[in-house]
Amino acid sequence: MNDRSFQVIVIGAGPSGMMAALKARSEGARVLLLEKNSAPGKKLLLTGHGRCNLTNRTIPDTFRERYFENARFLNSSFHTLSPQDVCDYFSSLGVSTHEEDAGRMFPDAQKSQAVLDALIKKIDSEGVTLLCDAEVLSLSRKEGKDGESFWEVETSKGAYTAACVILATGGKAFPQTGSTGAGYQLAKSVGHTVTPLIPSLSPLYLSGFDGKSTAAGNGAEEGEAVLSGLTLEQVRLTLQVSEKNVAKTEGGLLFTHQGISGPSAMRLSRYLPEGKEKSLYEDGKVRVQVHFLPNLREEEVEAKLLDAMTSEPNRAMRNILHSLFMLPDRLVGQILFKAGGDLPANQVTKAVRKKIVSGLCATTYTVSHPAPWEIAYVTRGGVNIKEVDPKTMQSKVAPGLLFCGEILDIDGDSGGYNLQHAWASGFVAGQTASTLSMMPQKMISAQNKR
Ligand SMILES: Cc1cc2nc3c(=O)[nH]c(=O)nc-3n(C[C@H](O)[C@H](O)[C@H](O)COP(=O)(O)OP(=O)(O)OC[C@H]3O[C@@H](n4cnc5c(N)ncnc54)[C@H](O)[C@@H]3O)c2cc1C
Repeated sequence: MNDRSFQVIVIGAGPSGMMAALKARSEGARVLLLEKNSAPGKKLLLTGHGRCNLTNRTIPDTFRERYFENARFLNSSFHTLSPQDVCDYFSSLGVSTHEEDAGRMFPDAQKSQAVLDALIKKIDSEGVTLLCDAEVLSLSRKEGKDGESFWEVETSKGAYTAACVILATGGKAFPQTGSTGAGYQLAKSVGHTVTPLIPSLSPLYLSGFDGKSTAAGNGAEEGEAVLSGLTLEQVRLTLQVSEKNVAKTEGGLLFTHQGISGPSAMRLSRYLPEGKEKSLYEDGKVRVQVHFLPNLREEEVEAKLLDAMTSEPNRAMRNILHSLFMLPDRLVGQILFKAGGDLPANQVTKAVRKKIVSGLCATTYTVSHPAPWEIAYVTRGGVNIKEVDPKTMQSKVAPGLLFCGEILDIDGDSGGYNLQHAWASGFVAGQTASTLSMMPQKMISAQNKR
């Protein structure tokens, strides 16, 4: 061995890469951790608004709904490193944690820096070789003189070799932190496929909110800006693409000066068509429908409204809507303005009443374009999980290659779910890589073919 030859090379010092490197090292492997930034964990520092929501205690119960269609892939790694194990691990590094609402776990220090400092200290004390400002440019499987194969990793600081490589380069979201999607090219270069990439956990940009004209065409949307800053505790959103319902979410909503944000909108963003499907957006075919009273069916809303209008015919519709549904003033004003119904109840025709009900239960906005990667929290899509063994995180395509974290086609909801996946998959990848790296190389290829 020379100082450029290791048993395990981990590419990317984010949460998953740091965990992978530490686990591989704790199992006895000689580990090199490569990071292109000048320091590890740049994105980790931003998590949880600087407080790091590092896992979620409710995961066994909420698992399927929080990790969507690929949840099953996580069964094994979460069994190996559960949310409780994550908290215990950080506690062993001197970072105690506490639970907040909805099972979200935070460090008691209330700072991401405490989590990052503990990891860096451990990396240092355990003897993981950390090399920063080292961007990985390519990787390839080479054949040695003795017929043994190994990985060669070409970096901006020269080439390094190892029996196993762990790709932990993250996704494409928030590229200003270093996660630019370069890892997908590295994975493709050795035979992997990558599923479509969608900026996820991002706000929705809606036409008419920026003061410009709108493609939705219901004539009143120039006024949407008045809603900016308004929050609602519970709405139901339905995403419609080419008039088909694609996804529904429920939860809080925030109107912004560009559209909508808050948990319900952020969750819906993962279902938006890809940005390259430009014509869908340009033709106004991507729409979001808001039900402002999700606990009531449309017929119930209409019945309540009709009842109130009949018993108080001289009362202003504005006041009737307020007392019936407790919705914010500005929203009520906007719904009535669009319906042409800001009148006393006895002057409101059946057609206008129907429009008011529709405004309450099915206001439709046009999504102008997907959010830019710079503001999305995670990436939907990534390295195809069919090509990765969920029990080991090893590639089924390239021997001795492993994956962990956001580079995989796994995205979780907000609430500590994405970091839980990063820690657990990193832990498993590190464990496997260490074991594999101690076997004769021919056996790694054989294992991979199983
Ligand atoms: C603002 C924000 C807040 C968030 N808050 C939370 C939260 O509170 N809880 C939660 O669960 N999730 C949160 N997330 C999501 C979470 O941070 C990510 O899912 C997680 O960081 C992914 O970890 P990772 O190790 O896979 O990748 P990353 O954290 O993206 O790390 C990848 C690393 O690889 C490096 N790299 C990339 N390419 C190369 C290369 N070619 N050569 C060398 N190095 C390379 C990058 O510089 C980076 O350091 C948040 C995300 C954002 C953007």
